[in-house]
Amino acid sequence: MGKVTGFLEFEREDRDYLPVEERIRNYKEFVLPLPEKDIREQAARCMNCGVPYCHGTNTITSQPTGCPVNNQIPDWNDLVYSGNWDEAARNLHSTNNFPEVTGRVCPAPCEASCTLNIDDNPVAIKSIEQEIADRAIASGLKPESYGPKTGKKVAVVGSGPAGMACAQQLARAGHDVHLYEKNAKAGGLMRYGIPDFKMEKKIVDLRVAQMESEGVTFHYGAHVGVNLPIEQLVKDYDAVALTGGSEKGRDLPIPGRELKGIHFAMEFLPQQNRRVGGEDLGRIEPILATDKNVVVIGGGDTGSDCIGTSIRQGAKSVMNFEIMPQPPEHENKPLTWPLWPLKLRTSSSHEEGVTRDFAVLTTKFTGENGQVKKLHCARADAKFQPIPGSEFELDADLVLLAMGFVHPVHEGMIDALNLDLDPRGNIKADQIAYQSSQPKVFAAGDMRRGQSLVVWAIREGRQCAHAIDKFLMGATALPR
Ligand SMILES: Cc1cc2nc3c(=O)[nH]c(=O)nc-3n(C[C@H](O)[C@H](O)[C@H](O)COP(=O)(O)OP(=O)(O)OC[C@H]3O[C@@H](n4cnc5c(N)ncnc54)[C@H](O)[C@@H]3O)c2cc1C
Repeated sequence: MGKVTGFLEFEREDRDYLPVEERIRNYKEFVLPLPEKDIREQAARCMNCGVPYCHGTNTITSQPTGCPVNNQIPDWNDLVYSGNWDEAARNLHSTNNFPEVTGRVCPAPCEASCTLNIDDNPVAIKSIEQEIADRAIASGLKPESYGPKTGKKVAVVGSGPAGMACAQQLARAGHDVHLYEKNAKAGGLMRYGIPDFKMEKKIVDLRVAQMESEGVTFHYGAHVGVNLPIEQLVKDYDAVALTGGSEKGRDLPIPGRELKGIHFAMEFLPQQNRRVGGEDLGRIEPILATDKNVVVIGGGDTGSDCIGTSIRQGAKSVMNFEIMPQPPEHENKPLTWPLWPLKLRTSSSHEEGVTRDFAVLTTKFTGENGQVKKLHCARADAKFQPIPGSEFELDADLVLLAMGFVHPVHEGMIDALNLDLDPRGNIKADQIAYQSSQPKVFAAGDMRRGQSLVVWAIREGRQCAHAIDKFLMGATALPR
């Protein structure tokens, strides 16, 4: 604990954003880092609690109380306060393969469970994490290795944060790792879902380069179960990890759904990320919000990303509907701490010019000449049924469905291997062995856990690598 009285002396201070009118002119990141002196003072607010809920594990449920990768937050806060950035980076990387990603996009459950958050403002853990990670990147990411070559070959399918973390850990343990990805570039939702204004993709490129120098071979355009049989990988490799994410979007099967202009968020967002990245879009119909009345259905992260992207594309108006009632502005801390509280969350994209409405049910779409023109809605009751007499209509030229994901795509590799599924349709594999119903085949990330967060995907990738290393070698030195 760097400064015993730090939490009494310093108030929480967080990073600022560029003004809205400036940042919506491009797709660049707009968070302004704090000066070094301020970041070190923020780290000094950490109290090195006896029971650090920010990164602990609930001994009854074995689930994390705060950070899913168990970042040793008080330790690196202390190191930052004393200006020992190199050791802080070493410590941070010992639990998290991609802290520059979580430092940017994690909702920071660690801050919700920070002890200071009981009756004060939590330590600015996320800002401190990003500062440590960005400094490490600026001084150059070097290849790392934990041991000699083992002669074992592992295939990882899907290069999102789960697949990348799993592949990186296994390569560092000495295995010959091949990562198969159906897209033209690596990163999964870090590259094609999360917009550049939240995280520029050079971050992912740097990690891919580091992993290549550690011996991971990336195979792009390899759609396993479609243009590359999964049976071939199972035959050729000593183990296979499936980390293909949860890609089946939740649909809204109401009258008029077939009209043009109604799209899943994950049809819209990847197009823009590809444009920004200079990738060839091929012969597809562009989905653009420019000069349109846009309605985003779904109030989560994905919906928020659709809002920010629509605003940058020059939408005429952006409306966001959520079926759940509006949560309270502030949580009741004595009731919710140290758990993740339900409260109204206003993202940077929400601040850029959206109208939000809650407890709204869309009952049908209507249009002209096959193109959507109107949404027909009603207020939802507590059972999500329309309240009679509450009906209303709204003009819409582009509707984006951002209502989450139901499970992984089953057609292709999952069906071909006839893998057991859990009741929600995810690959069934427990969270110790990560082994599917086929002994050589493992699963991790959203494909096993269901739609979640980057930090959970990193945890699952690391733990799956630990399990695979143990399966192949009988023992493992990889951290869980
Ligand atoms: C729009 C959006 C915004 C989000 N924002 C945030 C955020 O701000 N913060 C946060 O923490 N989380 C966010 N999330 C959630 C987070 O991105 C995911 O939980 C996380 O990326 C899951 O990681 P994953 O590796 O399991 O899967 P994914 O990231 O989905 O990666 C799966 C990869 O597997 C590939 N693949 C799938 N099937 C095959 C196959 N058969 N053959 C070859 N390759 C295949 C896919 O192309 C993809 O590259 C967001 C999600 C979305 C959709």
